[in-house]
Amino acid sequence: MESGQTLTFDALVVGGGIAGLQSALDLADQDFKVAIVEKDATIGGKMIRLSKVFPTLDCASCITTPKMAAAAHHENITIFTYCDLNSLERTGEGIVAAITQRPRYVDANKCIGCRKCEYSCPILVNDEEQGGFSARKAIYIPFSNAIPQIALMDIEHCMLCGKCEKVCPTQAVDYFQEPQDFTIVARTAVLATGFDLTPMETKQQYGKGNIPNVITALQMERLLAPHGPYARVLRPSDGMEPDSVAFVQCAGSRDKSMGVPYCSRVCCMYAIKQAMLLSGALPLADITIYYMDIRAFGKGYEQFFQNAQAMGIQFVKAKVATISEGENGSVTLRYEAQDGEGVTTADHDLVVLSLGMVPAWSPEGRCAVSTGSDGFIETIQPKIAPTLTDMEGVFVTGVAAGPKDIVDTIAESGAASMEASKYLASIAEPKKEAA
Ligand SMILES: Cc1cc2nc3c(=O)[nH]c(=O)nc-3n(C[C@H](O)[C@H](O)[C@H](O)COP(=O)(O)OP(=O)(O)OC[C@H]3O[C@@H](n4cnc5c(N)ncnc54)[C@H](O)[C@@H]3O)c2cc1C
Repeated sequence: MESGQTLTFDALVVGGGIAGLQSALDLADQDFKVAIVEKDATIGGKMIRLSKVFPTLDCASCITTPKMAAAAHHENITIFTYCDLNSLERTGEGIVAAITQRPRYVDANKCIGCRKCEYSCPILVNDEEQGGFSARKAIYIPFSNAIPQIALMDIEHCMLCGKCEKVCPTQAVDYFQEPQDFTIVARTAVLATGFDLTPMETKQQYGKGNIPNVITALQMERLLAPHGPYARVLRPSDGMEPDSVAFVQCAGSRDKSMGVPYCSRVCCMYAIKQAMLLSGALPLADITIYYMDIRAFGKGYEQFFQNAQAMGIQFVKAKVATISEGENGSVTLRYEAQDGEGVTTADHDLVVLSLGMVPAWSPEGRCAVSTGSDGFIETIQPKIAPTLTDMEGVFVTGVAAGPKDIVDTIAESGAASMEASKYLASIAEPKKEAA
């Protein structure tokens, strides 16, 4: 692709998480030409970074990788990664997306994914893909089943030693690569931009993210993952195997002070899942979930919750007020228990914050689609057509529309692609006027 190029497709899918992949596959299987535009260096979204998934405890990577591969190998799908969507507007031509592809400093047409550059690089940087618990190189492929398998250079940390350039068998390293601007014109679009975790930096009462043994739920997913940073669960400050682990629910949801008054819907279930996986990984550890209410809303979810109780996981009905650093790396929770015991404190070796979901992409200024007061993309007929936005021909799916689990995301993505294909049919064959 060259800078300034205009490419045309039937459908544009923004976001290559499980929602975007499912919508793209459903449209491509109907013979529509689809472009997936993803801001990350790989497709897969959050799901490829999870350990196992509730309520079935399937390995997340085992069920996400085939979808990623199916999209990558589909003759009707073109994937653009490492891209910023600058604007999305409707013109006489259709839906026009202005996109910038950031430089990888590696020529995607030449890189064969051999990782020789990575092995030769002398720089070690915190690996955000592993929750920051291990290191990666300054030139790297994000993880072993990333798609595409194309290296990228973290230019901020690169010291231009030239080792990667010397070992590359295809001369793919390109220190002078520039951002590429291009345009996609499509007849319909599906927004599947997902979520970020509620940022903790503002939450003074929970240590603003500065207590070493207080981690996020996504970090715990990495500790539990088969290809995680340590291949076992260790606490970050000193590498000790924790004897007691606590989960703090509604840490960043149902909290007006953080601007997140809504329930994020999945945190109860993912905490229960992580607690169950932990009790397998650390059979002697005490595991406690501090919760306000348990919301086990889906099929098989109540049974999942009951199984966790039967396994000996402690459930304490309490809202944790403060979290502080204790002695020898321990973490102190201060809470008011609902059983009448009043304000109590408890020490744990490791604390996991069950953070909520906030929208990953705010379309304002870039796209005429409206958002609700919660910041998620507004759906204009939430009961009978939950994927319809207020921009003609533009649909929304997954967490971009509001917090939801994978089951609902997949179902909604099928609905979004059905709406998009109906829309494509309607503009291809305008209705005949009544005689
Ligand atoms: C800790 C944790 C554990 C979980 N465990 C489970 C579980 O066990 N079972 C379950 O059912 N659910 C679970 N979930 C929920 C699950 O992660 C979501 O339902 C699912 O990931 C939603 O997929 P999505 O594609 O809508 O969003 P995402 O996975 O967030 O994907 C969105 C994609 O869009 C990309 N993107 C964002 N903005 C842009 C932009 N402007 N341009 C281009 N691309 C963009 C992102 O980079 C990302 O790749 C868990 C959630 C968390 C936080």
